[in-house]
Amino acid sequence: MLTSGSVSGKNVSQANPEALIKEDEIDARVRELAKQISEDYEDCGEIVLVGVLKGAFIFLADLSRRLTIPRAIEFIAVSSYGSGSRSSGAVRLVMDVRGSIEGRHIVIVEDIVDTGHTLKYLIGLIKSHRPASVKTCALVRKAERAEVDVEVDYLGFDIPDKWVVGYGLDYAEHNRTLPYIGIVTPAD
Ligand code: 5GP
Repeated sequence: MLTSGSVSGKNVSQANPEALIKEDEIDARVRELAKQISEDYEDCGEIVLVGVLKGAFIFLADLSRRLTIPRAIEFIAVSSYGSGSRSSGAVRLVMDVRGSIEGRHIVIVEDIVDTGHTLKYLIGLIKSHRPASVKTCALVRKAERAEVDVEVDYLGFDIPDKWVVGYGLDYAEHNRTLPYIGIVTPAD
């Protein structure tokens, strides 16, 4: 997700965030998710993975390469109104999918589900394109933060209510390319 609120660039980059999920654990789980998705869609022809920018780009890259079924890639970008590390729950579309997804099997690929507002919005948006089916895949979810009921069909990990970075996830654009998922303490 692109964040519209601004966060001071000072003191937010932490060189070695405390590890929450190690690189090899992520790799193993991504392989399992890819296997499950490949089995579930075995007889469906091509699926379309819709990656949510920016945070899902690394997860999507790894997941898509582990699938053993035909797949196409689309991207979507949304922004939440709010500031710092807390979303207000209001979601705005920044970039819709470019290709036609009508009549196709869609898997939305998200980095993180926090309150659930973003994923709920995305499901509605994708459904408006009249696909054959829509499922959701998220690397991590903060279950205790849920505000809306939204189904995650393929989930990597449930995590505690901490701000996480790495493997595509950032804090004010820092730590996105960290190979593991770590915890930082937001300034706000
Ligand atoms: P929602 O509350 O709508 O489920 O999630 C809103 C967005 O907040 C997520 O898509 C993600 O971009 C961001 N977000 C929520 N928690 C975290 C976190 O711990 N780390 C990072 N990097 N982003 C988060």
